[in-house]
Amino acid sequence: MSKPAVEKQSRAQFELREVGIVKSVREFIVMACGMPSCVNGQFVEFKDGVKGMVMGFKEDDVQVLVLGSQASIHVGDEVYNKGEMAVIPVGEGFLGRMVNALAEPRDGMGQIEPQDSYSLFRDAPGVMDRIPVDQTLETGTKILDAVIPIAKGQRQLLIGDRITGKTSVALDCILNQNGRNVVCIYCCIGKTYSNLLKVLNLLREREALDYTVVVSGIASVPVGEQFLAPYTACTIGEYFMQHGRDVFVVFDDLTKHSWVYRQISLLLERAPGREAYPGDIFYIHSQLVERAGYLKPELGGGSMTFFPIVEILQGDVTGYVSTNLISMTDGQIYLNTSLFNKGVRPAIDFGLSVSRIGNKAQWPIMKQLSSKLRLEYLQYQELVQMTQLRAAGLSKEAETKLKRGSAMTQIFIQEKNRPVVMEELIVHLYVLSRGILDDQSQDDLKKYKKVFFDSYQKAFPEMVQKIRQGKEMTQEVKESINTALKKYFEIE
Ligand code: ATP
Ligand code: MG
Repeated sequence: MSKPAVEKQSRAQFELREVGIVKSVREFIVMACGMPSCVNGQFVEFKDGVKGMVMGFKEDDVQVLVLGSQASIHVGDEVYNKGEMAVIPVGEGFLGRMVNALAEPRDGMGQIEPQDSYSLFRDAPGVMDRIPVDQTLETGTKILDAVIPIAKGQRQLLIGDRITGKTSVALDCILNQNGRNVVCIYCCIGKTYSNLLKVLNLLREREALDYTVVVSGIASVPVGEQFLAPYTACTIGEYFMQHGRDVFVVFDDLTKHSWVYRQISLLLERAPGREAYPGDIFYIHSQLVERAGYLKPELGGGSMTFFPIVEILQGDVTGYVSTNLISMTDGQIYLNTSLFNKGVRPAIDFGLSVSRIGNKAQWPIMKQLSSKLRLEYLQYQELVQMTQLRAAGLSKEAETKLKRGSAMTQIFIQEKNRPVVMEELIVHLYVLSRGILDDQSQDDLKKYKKVFFDSYQKAFPEMVQKIRQGKEMTQEVKESINTALKKYFEIE
């Protein structure tokens, strides 16, 4: 009678695994033989516990991407296939933590207790699982909230040259989620450690780390980890989305990710295509960005919004990787070097930036106030160029447009790491639409920006609440702003 129990016990002590042999090690790609049951995208383990991921096959050999240091892997070593798929732990415990691409803690704050484990390459939610977007993601950047609105579940590309404020726009959005019940994830790919430290310090200082997860795939970690980092960030986000939360993910940046993948592909001896990128460079990014979305209420109603960042050279938005990404996102925010150098920051280019779905979720009041802004601004820029050639003899209408445009530019200029709440933006846009700011000097406008909303909020706190609750501009609110304006400008 006791025999089955003994059998069961002894069986539990055994681990089923296939043992292969390392045939060659080339940088971070290992060729191994003797593992016939391996499948693509699964984890294998080397002798000293270093993990690897199966990336492909060549005749009888398996190509493995090393997810760790390859220094200790030598030809002839054993490699084990335990049939483990590429899964990572996920859960609430990741909030406030920094992890690597395998979701292992990297901040020295101890283990993270996972609630579940999710596949790194999960399928994106199907069409029937999603609903159209209807909630605004408040980014805290004035131009975005007014003219290029972002909806929860949207994928919005942040594109621009080096040092144009891309990271700052994304970080402002994270800072602005304080108290708004949005889980943020910052995924760093191919950046330096000092870049990452700056971000961490900022998030910590501004108490934004409590609702943020940082996934580190910095340039000094193994290439395999840099490749997996965005998928890890996405998978960690999916846990929160499946549990009905809104998630905001920043991928900083996908240009580096494509370079990493090109490096891997060339070492895997895959045929190089345009600019030496492999044929499936399009696929790896679309597979990633498709995972964003807005789930239907029956599935918890969670959402995942993506801000992939792409770095380009000399303003060339038509580069290979950037055009691919533009075509697979719901809009782009283009940051312009010349605007940045002129001091117009955030240097968002009105002409080339669009949000294809965001206005469906925009607050009605904001829609009403901002409907003409883009046109007005573009006309203003044309006029500025014209007046550089011929300054005299402008019509009255053109002069008004010039004044309005310059006031608008000043209103939209914003310091970094100072997100602005929607209520404040709405009040500014209302005042702008009344034409009161057109005749102000630049210095007066700067002072107005600093002082007016605070004094209005102090005088009419209940009106500010009403703007948020009603999301529209009632007569009552208008009157209160007008009263505050009269007091501020001392006009009768
Ligand atoms: P990189 O190409 O290095 O990733 P980036 O495009 O992400 O750069 P940031 O790192 O965000 O750019 O910003 C570059 C510099 O510009 C920083 O020194 C930052 O302080 C400054 N900066 C960014 N946005 C603003 C702003 N709104 N106002 C003033 N300075 C800004
Ligand atoms: Mg950056």
